[in-house]
Amino acid sequence: MIVEEFIELVKIDAESGDEAQLAARAADKLRGIGLQVIQDDAGSIVARSPACGLGCSCDDSIMLCAHLDRVPPGRGVNPVIRDGVIYSSGDTVLAADDIAGVVAILAGLRMVKAARECLPPVEVVFTVSEERGLRGAKQLDCSCFASKMGYIFDAGRPVGTVVLSSPTHVSLEVEVTGRAAHAAANPEDGISAIQAAAEAIIGFPFGRIDEQTTANVGIMSGGTATNIVCERARFRAEIRSLDEQRALGLTQECAAKIRDTVARLGACADVVTTVDYRGFTIEANAPVVERVVRALAATGREAVFESTMGGSDGNVFNARGIASVVLGVGCQNVHSTRESQPIAELAAAAELARDLVLVG
Ligand SMILES: [Zn+2]
Repeated sequence: MIVEEFIELVKIDAESGDEAQLAARAADKLRGIGLQVIQDDAGSIVARSPACGLGCSCDDSIMLCAHLDRVPPGRGVNPVIRDGVIYSSGDTVLAADDIAGVVAILAGLRMVKAARECLPPVEVVFTVSEERGLRGAKQLDCSCFASKMGYIFDAGRPVGTVVLSSPTHVSLEVEVTGRAAHAAANPEDGISAIQAAAEAIIGFPFGRIDEQTTANVGIMSGGTATNIVCERARFRAEIRSLDEQRALGLTQECAAKIRDTVARLGACADVVTTVDYRGFTIEANAPVVERVVRALAATGREAVFESTMGGSDGNVFNARGIASVVLGVGCQNVHSTRESQPIAELAAAAELARDLVLVG
């Protein structure tokens, strides 16, 4: 059943921005389990267990979250099973990121329903456009959420992995302006934006800056012809750190250094910095962690705490006051055509979803 549902859902095309059909299907399934479902303007699904009248309190509600969208190439997924592992046919991703999370939550809730007269208080959130800078989660109206704790089923790690920290992510967009001139007739009248940008990039910190911090220039462009001293060049960079102050401080430092460097060559730089998402660090003894440790113990697994340098919907929920951790669902090689999902891990993720609800 769980494998069939996984295959059914990965076969529905749902690259970021194109999740409507999958969202409708997921909403139907949630209604079938007995949840009340709404869809927000961005297309994300929010579902709640109805008040059961057996004395469950909404104060105990937890949120289970996964995202509906997948990265390209994610259309026409044709899964194949070999030795207990699901793969794509090799020309698309598998979309286990994050259909594994969606299916684990659905299957987990069905098991809860089979075990209990009523569903304990739970909120299910299936977001859209997670892979496009967490856009769906950022657009969610979290003020109506009852849950104070959230579990994001979205880590490409073994089931049992609990991600307790994630970095603040800042991007820098730099436009360097020099002065155009003929490159051979009067080069002394020109100021090369490419040369200035290159100097600035050389001075930019690359790679792992410290244990908690990374930096990278990932895109550069500029120029129109070899016989023109380039007037305009652009580059884009990012800085991430588990220490938010470090991320923000290093960003300011880098922006100032870029401006100084290009100014020495007579050019000027417009540097736009954006906090794409804020980081979080959850203490190992926080209630949201204690609950998942108990749930894992019920499924016979031990919790393994990790930190990640990636972002997820958990970054948005933590920033909005819902203490959230990110859980491994067992998928591997995500964001590649080699992506795979062991069936046993999918089953374990579903049991974890079940026990997260039941151990309350
Ligand atoms: Zn994901």
